[in-house]
Amino acid sequence: MSKQCICGSSQLFDACCGPLLSGEKKAPTAERLMRSRFSAFATGNREYLLQTWDPNTVPDSLELDPDITFESLQIVDTHRGGLFDDQGVVEFIARYDHDGTKGSQHERSFFRRLNGAWVYTSGIVNT
Ligand SMILES: [Zn+2]
Repeated sequence: MSKQCICGSSQLFDACCGPLLSGEKKAPTAERLMRSRFSAFATGNREYLLQTWDPNTVPDSLELDPDITFESLQIVDTHRGGLFDDQGVVEFIARYDHDGTKGSQHERSFFRRLNGAWVYTSGIVNT
């Protein structure tokens, strides 16, 4: 049994972020990597987040706040990041619940392709 993917793609988890999080498949586009990283945040998969982080900018350690429950992801805009691109930008709004308080993060994330695989390099948060 497979549930609908939490990344908001309207696909089933097993056909969407599931195979990416398990390492079975690589994200073909920057947007797919962004979605899978949201799913990793939502499921507390630190390992996947670190694996898909640009080695130039990856933090030494990553603490996920257990009081935050990620609820939905909305892709606002994408620029490049396609099958034949080496760089891409994905703008998104991630909605979450922090200890009963609703919040959201609006960010433009920058991705690049490293040895064929997309990695997250940096992001600019809109406030
Ligand atoms: Zn997904």
